[in-house]
Amino acid sequence: MNAILQHDLNDLENILNQAKHQSLDFLNDLENIPTSTNNTIDPTRHLDEEGLGSLAALKEFKERLAPLMVASPGPRYLGFVTGGSTPASIVGDWLASVYDQNTQAIKAQGGVSALIEFETINLLLQLLDLPKSFLGGFVTGATMSNFTCLGVARQWFGAQSGKDFAKTGITETINILTATPHSSSIKTLAMLGIGSNNYTTIKTIEGNREAVDIDDLEKNIQNLNGKPFILISSAGTVNTADFDDFIAISKLKEKYHFWWHIDAAFGGFASVSEKFKHLVNGWEGADSITIDCHKWLNVPYESAFYLIKEKHVHLQIETFQNSNAPYLGNPLENFNYLNVLPENSRRLRALPVWFSLIAYGKEGFADIIEKSTALALHFANELIEDDRFELLAPIRLNNVCFTLKGDHNQDKVSQFLSLLNDKGKVFMTPTVYQNRKGIRASFVNWRTSETDIKIIIEELKETILDLEI
Ligand SMILES: *Cc1c(COP(=O)(O)O)cnc(C)c1O
Repeated sequence: MNAILQHDLNDLENILNQAKHQSLDFLNDLENIPTSTNNTIDPTRHLDEEGLGSLAALKEFKERLAPLMVASPGPRYLGFVTGGSTPASIVGDWLASVYDQNTQAIKAQGGVSALIEFETINLLLQLLDLPKSFLGGFVTGATMSNFTCLGVARQWFGAQSGKDFAKTGITETINILTATPHSSSIKTLAMLGIGSNNYTTIKTIEGNREAVDIDDLEKNIQNLNGKPFILISSAGTVNTADFDDFIAISKLKEKYHFWWHIDAAFGGFASVSEKFKHLVNGWEGADSITIDCHKWLNVPYESAFYLIKEKHVHLQIETFQNSNAPYLGNPLENFNYLNVLPENSRRLRALPVWFSLIAYGKEGFADIIEKSTALALHFANELIEDDRFELLAPIRLNNVCFTLKGDHNQDKVSQFLSLLNDKGKVFMTPTVYQNRKGIRASFVNWRTSETDIKIIIEELKETILDLEI
């Protein structure tokens, strides 16, 4: 063994303790660490001939790299839809690295850690009140989950006319209908060879809505003259957290022949709270669902899962099986994750979620969901009371989409946001909603409190004064 590696091995306890100290320094100071930074490095560092050992690497990390880190797991990072990481999820993430399993099988020599993934999916179905007719697995993010689900939908589409697209490639136009798809679904259409231009946009409900207009959807379905299609629907659009009407879509599913996919990356967690559960009523009828854990479940990146109805498992295996050999017998008996999703080798990505669910239970997460939504409302009310801001959409859940009041201020929105973000106390993302430039604040972090709302409002008011609006 290389001498430095040997030295590290002998010093393991000390090294891990130092890493723990570094972790605590960051986590205990999250409130004060800026949400943006101008710090930079010259990324052309040469590779040493002889390594430095873990402790020296840690020292260099602390001096050179740690200053690049922003408080993205902190309470005032409201950009994108960014979760934090709870103590239990950090433990799970750490242990996933320590145990370093290649999570594939539930019954095999060489490792059965997929059983832990099965158990975790089962716990998630209970958390979300979804039926056991779904099989699930972990992938890196909602984008990959959409890719996995829509990959199987593509195979389903071919099978309707006796084709096997996984083997032959796509030989006919795949009909996709969707109202307000997330950009990652469109990216997925590109990656799947369907083509990012090749979907039909359905109208949204009139007024301040992003949800699908069911009448227009049915009109478009009838235009297809009985041909199969894939419907991509939304449980929580990013701008306004709007939800398609899943009861109405379930009724369409009784009449027409389609694959129903729901992107519920963050909105799926509405199901955890009695207050918001109605938003997802009927979603159990979907063929596939995408959900992110690194958003509202507050586990570290990269964590999301797909749910696909078990009755489609043969299509799923046709799509992702790792060899051309026919898959004999009951696929669940010799189940292996490498045959049902994009990756072959994969870490025990379920473990941070398993720890979180065991540690905090259904109540812990209902609390986080309800606190986030209450904070979003509180923040929105503060904006309403200040006549220099206006909301672009009503608050349905946890996302606040707002702008500077008045069309004459539209050209100042970007400058305002950039000044605000530069101060480093809060981070939000720019957006465009109904052709107006706006700002989006998404509340998902378990640490965010009323005190943070005060700080954020002060920052907004200060920034607007700086801009002399
Ligand atoms: C965040 C998000 C995605 C993409 O998720 P990643 O985890 O970033 O890949 C897809 N759909 C919706 C609705 C989202 O909010």
